[in-house]
Amino acid sequence: MSEREAAKRATGGPAAKKTAAKKAPAKQTAAKKTADTKATAKKTATKTTTAKKAGPAAAKKTAAKKAAAKKAPAKITAKKAAKTPAQKPAAKKATGGTSTESQASKARRAARINEALAEVYYYAHPELDFENSFELLVATVLSAQTTDLRVNQTTPALFAAYPTPEDMAAANPEELEELIRPTGFFRSKAKSLLGLSAALRDNFGGEVPGTVDELVTLPGVGRKTAFVVLGNAFGVPGLTVDTHFGRLVRRWKLTEQTDAVKVEQEIDALLPKSEWTMFSHRTIFHGRRICHSRKPACGACPIAELCPSYGEGETDPEKAKKLLKYEMGGQPGQRLKPPADFPGQPAPPLPSRAPATGAAK
Ligand code: SF4
Repeated sequence: MSEREAAKRATGGPAAKKTAAKKAPAKQTAAKKTADTKATAKKTATKTTTAKKAGPAAAKKTAAKKAAAKKAPAKITAKKAAKTPAQKPAAKKATGGTSTESQASKARRAARINEALAEVYYYAHPELDFENSFELLVATVLSAQTTDLRVNQTTPALFAAYPTPEDMAAANPEELEELIRPTGFFRSKAKSLLGLSAALRDNFGGEVPGTVDELVTLPGVGRKTAFVVLGNAFGVPGLTVDTHFGRLVRRWKLTEQTDAVKVEQEIDALLPKSEWTMFSHRTIFHGRRICHSRKPACGACPIAELCPSYGEGETDPEKAKKLLKYEMGGQPGQRLKPPADFPGQPAPPLPSRAPATGAAK
C-alpha cells in the first residue's frame, strides 16, 4: 500500500468517513439550532436592556447588530452549541445513557457501538509486539505505567537476551534491570520478571498456563494481564479493563462502576462472549486515538451519535481533527511490527543512546 493510501485510510477509512459524515453533522446541526435559539434570545435580552439604558443612538446600533447577526448565524460555533445545557439532555434522549435505561437497551447500544467501532478500527489488535505467549506475558507486565510504544522499543533486545522463561529466570538482575530501564519502575518490574520466569520454569514446565486462576498466581500478573494473555495468545475471550476501557464505557454510560472487576462483570453481561476480546481492542484503540482522557475529539468521532457524552470534548470538526493520534493523526503506530492490515506506519525503534565519552576512539 502506498503512503498516500495509508494516510487516506488512516483518517478512519471510507466506512469511518461515511459514518462520521452521516452522523456528526446531523447532531451538530440540531445542537447548533438549539444554541442559535438560546444564544439569540440571550443576546436580544441583554441588548434590549443595554439599549434602553443608553438611549436612541445605542438602540439604533443594537438594531444594526441584530440584523448582522441574523445574516451570519455561522458565527455561533458548534463548540458553543455543544456546551449549551440544552444539548446534553437532547443527546441523552437520543442515545440512551439515562440512569433508568434498561439492561436490554444498554445491550443494544453496546452492540451498535461495537459494530460502529469494528467498521472504523477493522485493523484493531493488541498493540504490544510479541511472537509467543511468554513474550506477550513479559511485554504486558512491562506495559504498566508506560506506553506500549516504549515497551515495543525495549523488548527486542530483552527477548534476544532471554528468549525463554529458563533464560530469564537465570538472568543477572542488574543486567535485566538495565535492559528494561526505558519502561520505568525497572527494579520492581525486573523482580516480577525474575519471579514469574522462575514460577513458569518450576511450576508450569516452562510454559505459560492458559487459565486466569493459574496466571494470577505468577508474580506481577493481575486479571488485566491474564486476560490480555488469554485473549491474544490463547484465543480465550476476555475483556481488558485498562484506563482507556474504563473511561470510555463510563462515557458511554454502559456502566457507572470504577472498580475494574465490576466494570468487567457489567460489560460482560452486555455483549456476547465471542466479542469480548475484540470489543476491548476497539475500545482501547478509540480511547488512544479519539476519545482522549482530557480532551476527547468529539467533532471527529465516528460514534458521536451513539454517545451520551458527546460535547465533553472538542466539537469543532477542524479543531477536533488536530487532536487525533497515531495513524488517525498521520503519525506512526505503536508497534514496530504491526499486523499486515494496519493502515499506518510502523513505530520507530528506540533511539540509540549517546555513545560514552571516548567510545569513538
Ligand atoms: S469522542 Fe466524544 S462523542 Fe466520541 S465517544 Fe468520546 S466523548 Fe463520546
